[in-house]
Amino acid sequence: MHPITWHSVDHSLDECIKCNICTSYCPVSAVTDKFPGPKYVGPQAQRFREIGQPYAPDQSVDYCSGCRVCNDVCPAGVKIAEMNTRARAQIVVKEGIPLRNWLLGRNELLGKLGSIAPQLANLALHNPLSRLLAEKTMGIARKAPLPTWSTKGTLADWLRRTARKRLKADKKVVYFHGCATMYYEPFVGKAAIAVFEHHGYEVIVPPQNCCGLPMLSNGEFKAALGYHQSNCTKLASFARAGFPIIGTSTSCTLTLKEEAPELLDMTDDASTQLKLATWDIFEWLRELHARGELRTDFRPLALKLPYHAPCQQRAHRIGKPALEILALIPGLDVRESMARCCGIAGTYGYKEEKYQIAMDVGKELFRFVQEQGAEIPYTSCDSETCRWQLEHGTQIPSRHPIEVLAAAYGLYDLEKRNII
Ligand code: SF4
Ligand code: SF4
Repeated sequence: MHPITWHSVDHSLDECIKCNICTSYCPVSAVTDKFPGPKYVGPQAQRFREIGQPYAPDQSVDYCSGCRVCNDVCPAGVKIAEMNTRARAQIVVKEGIPLRNWLLGRNELLGKLGSIAPQLANLALHNPLSRLLAEKTMGIARKAPLPTWSTKGTLADWLRRTARKRLKADKKVVYFHGCATMYYEPFVGKAAIAVFEHHGYEVIVPPQNCCGLPMLSNGEFKAALGYHQSNCTKLASFARAGFPIIGTSTSCTLTLKEEAPELLDMTDDASTQLKLATWDIFEWLRELHARGELRTDFRPLALKLPYHAPCQQRAHRIGKPALEILALIPGLDVRESMARCCGIAGTYGYKEEKYQIAMDVGKELFRFVQEQGAEIPYTSCDSETCRWQLEHGTQIPSRHPIEVLAAAYGLYDLEKRNII
């Protein structure tokens, strides 16, 4: 068992001034009585979790989605979401992990297995009978927006096929694709690589693992530690050599930058190097723009595009760089969502008992999209599970902002999701 020890995150409870701002913003406590709110399950309950206190878990902490909206608004800097994550990990250490949560944490394994025979895997997962069975036997919500495996090969397959065509250059970036791009949405990776190469960068895609976020969120710290250490081994040398490590999944980049080192107490050199070298893709593109190196050879895109900056993107505390870059594209009318959360929060909304909560949280965002008019072809969002939830809640296709940017450069077909 991985011991859960007293930690700087837990110490931040002493900063709480009991203002209740976090509770008034928490999207989950606003829609369900099952979750008493961040102040109660965070700093208040934390006093009873101190070392030496008898084990008396408050199971309501499991209803925290980990969206981090509370952290964003807390005026005292209390690390409420991390406190709740650590409390869940403490419960897992003591009581074990349900099979469903174990499975939902294994994004990389599921991606690999399904990619052996993706048509079959999609058929097995996406039919009403198997979904009903999965709900009844494991508690995976039958209507939850689970992804479909790519039937045109993984990102690795495409990279192998196109290796000879890839740009070789002195300027290099390392691409962190994450599990979703590798197994479900390789077109997001293709769009990103096309944009990097358009700017004269050679793209290195080294072996890498799941960032570990699904395991952290489900309280499996020991397994997450294994994944993070493996990523440190595989990627830290690139960081030391001065290459930026850039990801398209904003939750993966947040995990490498902050969540994994903080929650897992990783202060070693490799973890620190990786943390400092990691960029979210639009954060990096904005930096390029600030240096006057972002190409602006855009084709006009006559599109009205509702854009939602997901919670994990906002948690980077870098503003909304995708909005800043998309604003440069002529003809593109980006509409910014001010909704707090889409509700899905990684694997949270996949769970039967939380599915309706996730949909109720998402209503604010779905309503915003509907209010933009009937002629909306796409929405846009930087996180994959949020895009799938957006599509589920609005029935409108969703695109990563890098797909939109690649289309504006004339490199990518936004409809077919293919490199031109
Ligand atoms: S917002 Fe921060 S300071 Fe205010 S009650 Fe919540 S945790 Fe405490
Ligand atoms: S992380 Fe989100 S769901 Fe959890 S307490 Fe904070 S605001 Fe509420």
